[in-house]
Amino acid sequence: MTPPPEIERVLFTEEQIAARIREVAAGISERYRGRSLKLIGVLKGSVFFLTALARELTIPVKIDFLGISSFTDSARGSGMVRIAKDLDDPIEGEDVLLVEDIVDTGLTSRYLLQTLAGRSPNSLGICTLLDRTPRRLVQVPIEFRCFEIPDRFVVGFGLDYKQLYRHLRYIAVMHPDKGKGLA
Ligand code: 5GP
Repeated sequence: MTPPPEIERVLFTEEQIAARIREVAAGISERYRGRSLKLIGVLKGSVFFLTALARELTIPVKIDFLGISSFTDSARGSGMVRIAKDLDDPIEGEDVLLVEDIVDTGLTSRYLLQTLAGRSPNSLGICTLLDRTPRRLVQVPIEFRCFEIPDRFVVGFGLDYKQLYRHLRYIAVMHPDKGKGLA
C-alpha cells in the first residue's frame, strides 16, 4: 500500500507490529495463566490493537469497550475526559487489562484506571500499543507495551488524524505541519 502524501515515513510495518504483538501476547498469556482475562478497549483507537492482541492470546478472553469523549477538541493534556459509552458488564472480581492505543500525557489512562479501580476488579493493568514518555504529565503503571515512540504525531493501526488513517496496516509519522501541534 502506498502511503498517502500526508505521511512522512512509516515507523512500524505491518510485519513488525504483528511480530511484536505476538511477543507481548505471549507475555500476557504467561502472566495470566490459569485465569481468564477481560480486555477493555478504549474506542476507537484501540480497536485494531485489541482484536490483533486477543487473537494471539492462549488464555480464555472476554472483551468489552469503553467510549470516551473529551470536553474540548484540545483536551489532550487537559485530562478532561468522560465516559461516553460505558462497559456492557461489571468487572467485579475479574482480571482486567485496559488496552490503549497510545499513552501520551497519561491523563486519559490515569482517569480510566481510577474509574475502573472503583469497580473492584481482581486485578487491573494497562497494555498499550504505543508509549510516548517524553510528554508524560502523570505517571501511570504500564504492564505491557509494544513500542516506545519519539515525540511525533502518529497515525495508523487504529490511530487517526481527523478520523482518517485508522485503517492503515502500519504506524506512520505525519508530516510536521499535520497532527495536533506536535513537531
Ligand atoms: P493522553 O491522555 O495519554 O495524553 O492521550 C491519550 C490519547 O490521545 C490517545 O488515546 C489518542 O487518542 C490521543 N493521541 C495522543 N497522541 C497521539 C498521536 O500521536 N496520534 C494520534 N492519532 N492520537 C494521539
